Amino acid sequence: NPELSGDFTTLMAWADGVRRLRVRANAETPLDCRTARDFGAEGVGLCRTEHMFFDAARITAVRQMILATDEAGRRAALAKLLPEQRADFAAIFAIMTGLPVTIRLLDPPLHEFLPHAEADFADVATATGVDIDTLKRRAAELHEFNPMLGHRGCRLGVTYPEIYETQARAIFEAAIDVAEQSGAAPIPEVMIPLVATKRELDLMKVVVDKAARAVFAERGREIDYLVGTMIELPRAALRAGAIAETADFFSFGTNDLTQTTLGVSRDDAARFLGTYVDQGIYERDPFVSIDVEGVGELIEIAAQRGRQTRPDIKLGICGEHGGDPASIAFCEQVGLDYVSASPYRVPIARLAAAQAALRKA
Ligand code: PEP
Ligand code: MG
Repeated sequence: NPELSGDFTTLMAWADGVRRLRVRANAETPLDCRTARDFGAEGVGLCRTEHMFFDAARITAVRQMILATDEAGRRAALAKLLPEQRADFAAIFAIMTGLPVTIRLLDPPLHEFLPHAEADFADVATATGVDIDTLKRRAAELHEFNPMLGHRGCRLGVTYPEIYETQARAIFEAAIDVAEQSGAAPIPEVMIPLVATKRELDLMKVVVDKAARAVFAERGREIDYLVGTMIELPRAALRAGAIAETADFFSFGTNDLTQTTLGVSRDDAARFLGTYVDQGIYERDPFVSIDVEGVGELIEIAAQRGRQTRPDIKLGICGEHGGDPASIAFCEQVGLDYVSASPYRVPIARLAAAQAALRKA
């Protein structure tokens, strides 16, 4: 409806004239990126790279990487994944030209990648030459009782740095490819997940910077990039002053930050949170709207401590709350720089950011 779309454009222009918060999108497919850009997203705030690894054409290589018992085995699998990742990132950069793209390095709950069906083990056996029983034993060794608190996020990068090194290489190779094809250099922001301590981020930044230097030397060209971290654990929020010595940006992962602050599993909360809200224990569902008293205070602490160390640190939010109007109002109050929401919530976020700015004024 051209008339409606005219009204929509006018309304959004009003909102954009008023809001201070930038609005980005959580997107990892070209379709999501295109949709987000059409809806006015000003960059990608979260590209979850693990989602790319479920693709049928590469899941066997991913399983090969996870089940490998040594670095050589992991590198053999990563060599298969590198061109795939490079193509993933190039497609995103090409759509988001001129805008920042935050790419989060692998953050899988490991169990999601482990093979279960006989046929899946058979595929890995064929790819690696390792017999199925050995692969099954290895999968059993990797079993975790609580994968969401287990070997995920940067813990994977710390124990197997070659995984993050390969992903970083794919990012920089793709960025240079796109810069050479389009003439416009992409703006990659490499994001490290589930950081709790400065040392974790220090170690991972060394890996990313080394990959960048290697690619720049090979290609004879450099591009600007940032390295930052998710703040999604209470310890990271409290230690934000130290972490900001290494981070160019913080992105608040309010899904995990809510889970770990409240001690409530994000996957099981639905069983009782309705009653909790009815009883007034939480004012709203804390996985939808930021729990201002708890999670919100940690965000305020982290923002303040981060800025104390580094006044120009870029601050954003990329949990589901980034598309929730009440949470966006909170982000405006705290003075974050941007919110990142799912593509279809970008217009709502633009409107909510404008309303929040007006209310604050
Ligand atoms: C988060 O934890 O808020 C986040 C954005 O990361 P994920 O949902 O992928 O864990
Ligand atoms: Mg998270």
